[in-house]
Amino acid sequence: MIELLQRLCDAPGVSGFEGGVQAIVADELRPLTDELWRDRMGNVIAVKRAARRSPTPRRLVYAAHADEVGMMVSHVDDQGFVRFRAIGGLDARTLPSQRVLVHGTVGEGGPLKGVIAVQAGWLGTPEDRTRVFPVHELYIDLGRPADDVRARVQVGDVVTFAATFDRLNDDVVVGRAFDDRVGVYCLIEAMHRIEAPDVDVYAVCTAQEEVGVRGMPTAAHAIEADLAVAIDGALPSDTPYAQPHERQCALGEGTGIYLIDNRTIGSPRLVQGLIDACERRGIPYQRNLGGGTDASEIQRHGLGAWATTIGAPTRYMHSTVQLCHLADIEATIALLAAFAEDAAGVLPADWR
Ligand SMILES: [Zn+2]
Repeated sequence: MIELLQRLCDAPGVSGFEGGVQAIVADELRPLTDELWRDRMGNVIAVKRAARRSPTPRRLVYAAHADEVGMMVSHVDDQGFVRFRAIGGLDARTLPSQRVLVHGTVGEGGPLKGVIAVQAGWLGTPEDRTRVFPVHELYIDLGRPADDVRARVQVGDVVTFAATFDRLNDDVVVGRAFDDRVGVYCLIEAMHRIEAPDVDVYAVCTAQEEVGVRGMPTAAHAIEADLAVAIDGALPSDTPYAQPHERQCALGEGTGIYLIDNRTIGSPRLVQGLIDACERRGIPYQRNLGGGTDASEIQRHGLGAWATTIGAPTRYMHSTVQLCHLADIEATIALLAAFAEDAAGVLPADWR
């Protein structure tokens, strides 16, 4: 189990450049599904057909995003220092002193190791010692002569964080891209467990979610779903910075079922169907208020679909020290597998 999760989490896949992750996903999903393809946006779409074929099958989509937040080279200066722009929602507070990999597309060799520099304490102004440096003031130091950097790095090259997967202890894992590689992992593991669904189950691994849910629409167009469950991190608030009245989800207390987020109101009868699936089978779950996910772009696409999101609570999203509890990951997989059996019963008889 951990081996696949680790491979997914350590693969580079900044928004728009998800190829490394999607290659793993396609290899894993192909033997589990009846058909698999990649669309023009870079989504991987796989389908496991209903056990009893129907001319008008109901379609259930499970979607997790392959992409992660990262950076792109915007300039290489005369001394070989590299400036960059953010791809996706980077938090500038978390950047200085990070190790990075610059995926140079010229010259020989693999990615170049570097660091995001920290202004030395004896430089700058007194205010510099307390302020947050915005992304455009930061630079990457590759520790190489300028001509070497220029021979290997050009504007447009992708930069990923070098932080890798690890176990903090028996229960909790840490990594840089749990949002949403943990979701991708849950998607793949659930497809292993779904045996004879009575709906067509689509496993979709989307591109470009982190830059405004740009990948999902083309997959939604191709599928024309009836029901859709995005898989993405729930927002745990069991940490010192959250006030008691802000508390909703906690690490280790079950998968988070999204009731609402900034882009989507969870379709109430789908949300209830997910809760019922948990209650019937003793799967731990929590009610979650989320940020925004792929669910938004499938709920309102075409004729529309009932949609919401579930997922393991993920502490410190978009940082390099994201934390998840293995029991929450298991609960998410169990719910996805269970709901595939229940899905047809959630839709009303007059559904159209
Ligand atoms: Zn996400």
